[in-house]
Amino acid sequence: MNQPTPEQPADIVARLRATFRTGRTKPVEWRTTQLRRLREMLTEHGTDLAAALHADLGKSSTEAYRTEIDFVIREIDHTLDHLEDWLRVESAPVPAHLGADATAWTQYDPLGVVLVIAPWNYPAQLLLAPVVGALASGNAVVVKPSEMAPATSAVLARLLPAFLDTEAFAVVEGGIPETTALLAERFDHIFYTGNGTVGRIVMRAAAEHLTPVTLELGGKSPAFVDRDADLPVVADRLARGKFLNAGQTCVAPDYVLTDPETAAALEPLFRKAVEAVYGSDASASGEFGRIVNERHFDRLSGLLDSGRVVVGGASDRATKYIAPTVLADVDPASPVMQEEIFGPILPIVTVPDLDAAIDFINDRDKPLALYVFTASQDTRDRLAAETSSGGLGYGLPLAHLTVSDLPFGGVGASGMGNYHGRYSIETFSHRKAVLDKPLG
Ligand code: NAD
Repeated sequence: MNQPTPEQPADIVARLRATFRTGRTKPVEWRTTQLRRLREMLTEHGTDLAAALHADLGKSSTEAYRTEIDFVIREIDHTLDHLEDWLRVESAPVPAHLGADATAWTQYDPLGVVLVIAPWNYPAQLLLAPVVGALASGNAVVVKPSEMAPATSAVLARLLPAFLDTEAFAVVEGGIPETTALLAERFDHIFYTGNGTVGRIVMRAAAEHLTPVTLELGGKSPAFVDRDADLPVVADRLARGKFLNAGQTCVAPDYVLTDPETAAALEPLFRKAVEAVYGSDASASGEFGRIVNERHFDRLSGLLDSGRVVVGGASDRATKYIAPTVLADVDPASPVMQEEIFGPILPIVTVPDLDAAIDFINDRDKPLALYVFTASQDTRDRLAAETSSGGLGYGLPLAHLTVSDLPFGGVGASGMGNYHGRYSIETFSHRKAVLDKPLG
């Protein structure tokens, strides 16, 4: 029997746009129903998703739930709890020349048909968390999962249409040709997570239709460690944050920036921390993930000799395993410092003092996150005031993105726009200005 021809991007967008124009997606009740259905999908089929995440990235079930499935459930619950409040019209004071009977307010309008393009590293979370905001804002949504996480893409393509309103929601699977075809269509917003090179392609395509974009990109997020910090705690928290998902996390601490004495003191502490989390052989730990594919494995293997190996250094192409690795004596000109690492390699770069550290950060692209470990209020204040980054974490890497009431996004080369919680409503809605002057 012949397979039915898949619906073409132009037809999908036209169909969803027709639905949007009927007003079907606008009532809050439709939105909350979609969110509840998405929640049901995650609770009923969490194990299917966890198995797919294991197949794609070797993620343990604990990690799959913590960083993807339960993460999205929390985002849904938070949105359901606050949505009516977030959508409330806000009145604005009216200037005297318009008369005492005039009133003004802002209201949130859905944008229309929006496109969400997701990457492979948290292939469920980074597709579904934007979808929560897009649906909560009353939009019709097209999603494009990453072809580089094929098992997760297949599960999402099977489950999402079974749970969500397919008159207003569609999944398009595929890689570059399919994404290129989608990008030729006119959307009312494009939400892209991934690398900056493709980010530019997305923005160029969006410009043709004057479509606004959110770009959630990456970059080299520094971890500044001051000599007065509690170093055993720092090493432990950095190791846990860096090696989660085998370092394939957009907000992972990319490198450590510290003075030479502190660098030396950190070396044995990193050895201890890695062993405490993954045992003496991380390849035997069920908690340590694998590199997504051979191309990234080869890229990362080429970075292992950018410094002196303090911990790890081992790799195995057959299983796409790269050990949790810490490198010392790393030259800022070495390959590992030229691009976002996006793998389990943590270089330690030394600078003489705080001024040099601030210059080091400001000489490079604005990072997605900056992490600061210090006991000094003055050092905290200076780094906050004198550097720019998407987010700033004192004392703990990664965790700021789990705070639903904080906007998550980059600045400069690490992206534009943000989301999570009420910031997703801002992203996926138009804040319409309304003036009402009675005729009488
Ligand atoms: P990826 O290769 O899966 O690409 C992302 C998406 O872009 C995919 O859906 C893919 O199909 C599509 N794509 C790829 N090439 C394309 C092309 N030429 N034209 C159109 N579409 C194309 O993921 P990636 O980019 O390798 O992801 C890793 C990067 O993403 C890292 O830089 C990381 O820091 C960043 N990232 C950022 C965040 C964030 O929230 N800011 C989260 C995760 C990852």
